Amino acid sequence: MNTHVKTELAPIPFIDVAAQRARLGTRIDDAVTRVLNHCRFVNGPEVAELESRLAAFAGARHAIACSSGTDALAMILMAWGVKPGDAVFCPSFTFCATAEVVPWVGATPVFVDVLADTFNMDPASLEAAIEVAKRKGLTPKVVIPVDLFGQPADLDAIEAIAKANGLKVLCDTAQGFGATWNGKRTGSFGDATATSFFPAKPLGCFGDGGAVFTDDDDLVPVLKSVREHGQGVDKYQNVRIGMTGRLDTIQAAILLEKLAIFEDEVAARQKVAERYNAALADVCIVPAVDPRATSVWAQYTIRVPQGGRDALGPALQKEGVPTAVYYRLPMHMQPAYEQYPSAGNGLPVCEKLAGEVISLPMHAYLDEATQDRVIAAVRRALGG
Ligand SMILES: *Cc1c(COP(=O)(O)O)cnc(C)c1O
Repeated sequence: MNTHVKTELAPIPFIDVAAQRARLGTRIDDAVTRVLNHCRFVNGPEVAELESRLAAFAGARHAIACSSGTDALAMILMAWGVKPGDAVFCPSFTFCATAEVVPWVGATPVFVDVLADTFNMDPASLEAAIEVAKRKGLTPKVVIPVDLFGQPADLDAIEAIAKANGLKVLCDTAQGFGATWNGKRTGSFGDATATSFFPAKPLGCFGDGGAVFTDDDDLVPVLKSVREHGQGVDKYQNVRIGMTGRLDTIQAAILLEKLAIFEDEVAARQKVAERYNAALADVCIVPAVDPRATSVWAQYTIRVPQGGRDALGPALQKEGVPTAVYYRLPMHMQPAYEQYPSAGNGLPVCEKLAGEVISLPMHAYLDEATQDRVIAAVRRALGG
């Protein structure tokens, strides 16, 4: 038994939704009450207002609110008419939803390796995956770069490869909304972008929600039709196969209040990351941000090589410091996905990272005393 464990300290929350609600005072309650009073629970005025604010924030011509990040990804593939025989390139080191939507439209996910320093799609592996897809008789159609843990993927390299190979670029910024690449926010890159407002994401609502961003004027009516059961001139004419993809008005009202403080929250997360980086760089591999990027730190993920990772979580848990492992098993090794092709014979970087990564508590309301508790516990556990 470790005698210097201060068992009287309350466990630290991994994310803290309550602290944000306290800061917003009655603004969320008032916003919800306004919706309860006007009763337009579906397609209410807050939805259109949120869409225009999100588009302005991201620097995109259009934002289309929807029911989740997963549905945002699916709506884009459906609107583009991606179909059986098409190859869609996904990083293997991601949340499952990135690849899950591909078989929904009958297409084939092809898994791509990532870069060890940024955790994001490796452009050289993407090129190898395109060749694999062609050899298998698939038609390369779409690449889905993921902004993992809050940092944009290498959009310069990926957009260039996409252009050379006639691929559409669907950016998955479920974890990276609010981050920048070359000074521009995510949502303004590629042919379309999907994001998520799941409560644990950097900008979360109080349930499920998401959005699509695009500059393509012609895609907007198609996305809106897909969102409403493939409706045509009205909801009783169906011109394509669609879904129930709308964002609830209550969630839009909540997001409007949260978007107003989001920039400030991103800045607070950046400060936490900088303090962690400075205090932990000598005991583990701290996350690297590309000089062209900023991160919104959806996760603060360190690497503990040489088998130390598995002992770290339980050691920190004893001190009331929660951790999480994103992701323990890459997609190409998951039972539901191992049948699909990948760029190489195994994806060595994904497989190595899966054994080394662990994420520490990260949110905008993590005060310095709590950060110091996390830092001290990690240093103790890693012998620093
Ligand atoms: C969370 C997440 C999604 C899915 O978002 P939901 O709103 O939970 O459906 C998709 N891609 C990535 C990378 C995610 O982290």
